[in-house]
Amino acid sequence: MMHWNSAILKELVELRSKKSSLLGFSTHADFVLEMNMAKAPEKVATFLEDLARKLKPLGEEERAVLLKLKEQESQKRNFPFTGELHAWDTRYYMTQVEETQYAVDQNQLNEYFPMEVVTKGLLDIYQELFNLNFQQVEGAPVWHDDVTLYCVKDRSSGQVVGQFYLDLFPREGKYGHAACFDLQPGCLLPDGTRQMAVSAMVTNFNKATADAPSLLQHDEVETYFHEFGHVMHQLCAQTDFAMFSGTHVETDFVEALSQMLENWVWEKEPLQRMSKHYKTGKPIPEELLDKLIKSRLANTGLFNLRQIVLAKVDQALHTKNGINAAEEYFKLCLDILGIPASPGYTGRGKWREMLQETHRCQENHLSLNINNTKQLVVDFRGKDREHTLSPSTGHLCLKKFGLSPNILRSFCTCPVESIKSTWYRNYTAGDLQAPFLRSTWTHTSRLRDSFFSQAIRLLNTQN
Ligand SMILES: [Zn+2]
Repeated sequence: MMHWNSAILKELVELRSKKSSLLGFSTHADFVLEMNMAKAPEKVATFLEDLARKLKPLGEEERAVLLKLKEQESQKRNFPFTGELHAWDTRYYMTQVEETQYAVDQNQLNEYFPMEVVTKGLLDIYQELFNLNFQQVEGAPVWHDDVTLYCVKDRSSGQVVGQFYLDLFPREGKYGHAACFDLQPGCLLPDGTRQMAVSAMVTNFNKATADAPSLLQHDEVETYFHEFGHVMHQLCAQTDFAMFSGTHVETDFVEALSQMLENWVWEKEPLQRMSKHYKTGKPIPEELLDKLIKSRLANTGLFNLRQIVLAKVDQALHTKNGINAAEEYFKLCLDILGIPASPGYTGRGKWREMLQETHRCQENHLSLNINNTKQLVVDFRGKDREHTLSPSTGHLCLKKFGLSPNILRSFCTCPVESIKSTWYRNYTAGDLQAPFLRSTWTHTSRLRDSFFSQAIRLLNTQN
């Protein structure tokens, strides 16, 4: 089995490389990144290096804590202690850290997150942040009784921005994950009038029963907030062309807005606005709230450094020839994590994750992944910020990530607009009308040119 996997990986990497060179790219990484904001493997490498360097002190601190726990346990159980931490120790002691230093009683906590309270608080916060008004549409035609429809208007102009459906509870045959679907793009119609954006947020939170209300875990509140960020993106990013509307952006940008907005569910004020005990109506006790906020920091250094290891293995495989994945994994574990991989472990079981990791890291290219680190939490709560919920906070966040210093709603549109202008320069109106080009992946002129020229060359040689 192991042997087969090695051969499959080797073949996969070679075929990717071949395909990319056919399209005129020097490596598979160049090919993939062309259509992302990161653009080039060098940029990804710098990003990963930089992130690893920033996380290193935190990782070392956490490693020392794990080692201390191991020493204590070795003494207690009369095991020899060599002063070393092994790969098979880490998950075990990381769990101990979570349970002893950052423990939060989730059963106690979720009593403060009844669905109606969370929904009201969340919708209020979003209306405030984006300067919008949400109005539930009574008696709207929906696909199931659980589903609700809202009409969204701009607070200042009163103009309709779009509509969204909330489909929050599980039922048989329903899509099993949390996601946001754009049902109708916000774009211009052939007669020049604007088509409103319509999207649907789909989740599977527990439904209320006869004797218990629907209560959310904190991570579900985070999911709710995250997915609703996508709703906002789809509604607010209105463009001329359907293909650029809403969340139709580069893959390493699509999560940016929602990831940034997740910060709000780790802050006191928004949490208080989205919670109330389902029986007593009392707010979350201060001590519980503090514990929850602190728990975000558990093992973040080692966790993120490990993601960097996987991303770097992926980058190595797709930028250099003849890389041995297992050797590379072993070397990087030692360099970056400071914890050797288990002897004989090839990392092969992790391929899927590895091969996706760069994508994830690139998604987080805007350093949003550092959200999880102590440093950014500190930055996010910096003195220069007046209020968690004010648009100016959003403004500051955006500035921090080097994005357009406009308010949040402009954030939704700006990257799309920037791609659009590049597009306009490279395409004629005729091209844009061609259905082929609308649906094709020839996203940039360079890719399109190389694709066509290669295709023509191949056709010529075959004739
Ligand atoms: Zn998302």
